[in-house]
Amino acid sequence: MSVLVLADHDLGNLSGATTRAVSAAAQLGGEVHVLVAGSDVAAVATQAQALAGVAKVLVADNDALADAPVEALTGLIGTIAGDYAHILGIAGAVGRDVLPRLAARLGIQPVTDITAILGPDRFVRPVYAGNAFETLTSPQDRQVLSVRASSFAPAGAGGSAELVAVPIADTASLARFIAAHRTQSDAPDLQTARIVVSGGVALGSRDNFRMIEDLAGLVGAAVGATRAAVDAGYAPNDWQVGQTGKVVAPDLYIGIGISGALQHQAGMLGAKKIVAINTDAESPLMKLADYAYQGDLFEAVPALIAALKG
Ligand code: FAD
Repeated sequence: MSVLVLADHDLGNLSGATTRAVSAAAQLGGEVHVLVAGSDVAAVATQAQALAGVAKVLVADNDALADAPVEALTGLIGTIAGDYAHILGIAGAVGRDVLPRLAARLGIQPVTDITAILGPDRFVRPVYAGNAFETLTSPQDRQVLSVRASSFAPAGAGGSAELVAVPIADTASLARFIAAHRTQSDAPDLQTARIVVSGGVALGSRDNFRMIEDLAGLVGAAVGATRAAVDAGYAPNDWQVGQTGKVVAPDLYIGIGISGALQHQAGMLGAKKIVAINTDAESPLMKLADYAYQGDLFEAVPALIAALKG
């Protein structure tokens, strides 16, 4: 049987996370189909069609599906779920809302936050706030899964999937969309960035935190922050990395003035290489780092920025 991937998209763009969900889906065996649901989504469907490994793009284009109303989306997937052995989404805002509802409707147990796929019913996912990983077998005929996109490589291009329109029977929803507040930024998406530069509360002020943004801009990185830095108002909430923030798995994570509390580590332990800058050589992040620089960030970061500017 085939695998259905629920596409994440915004403002006419298919998310980078969806391309990673497609490569996760390909590991399950069977044809990969992508569901693009929303209003005026022809451009998104075209982007999904071009992904390598996608056999079909199901398009549910209806004004009532604008702004991803979860009840309508859940109902829509419910009507086509019978054709699929696996229904897979991203462990993000929409997936976390829709997939458990869908699983409840289908009477099955969802498997969430998957970081590795070992077989059609065998998965790895973090437990205890990322301090351990469990391997589990889900002995069900059908699976509803959410994946941590950053744990999977993006699917390539060069596909030419068939487009299929999906009829929408019921768009009734008790929830009402009020507004979307988007962060305006040219920086890469934090959850799928190859490099992340994060700052901690040691930055001391919102103005000083701009050093982290400048450094990130110079190396093409996304900006992250600790919860202490966010709580202090130095960085916006959606930059928070950790147990109660975002989970990142970049090739390179640069943590500046960050102690490396377990709750922060829960969001960045998947990084391939870690660099830490801290005055305290004994801090957990310095011990964890592949490259640890013991020194004052107010000297090290400006020097790094000056060197990069050449
Ligand atoms: P600190 O721990 O205060 O560390 C600051 C570091 O900066 C120190 O290591 C210090 O040596 C260094 N430093 C100071 N001055 C300089 C200087 N001039 N140059 C260089 N280094 C310097 N935290 C998260 O980050 N993400 C989460 O998602 C998260 N979720 C949480 C959930 C719960 C339920 C709880 C209880 C806590 C959570 N926390 C989270 C908070 C976490 O426990 C830590 O308090 C937080 O990560 C600490 O942030 P920090 O490293 O910026 O600050």
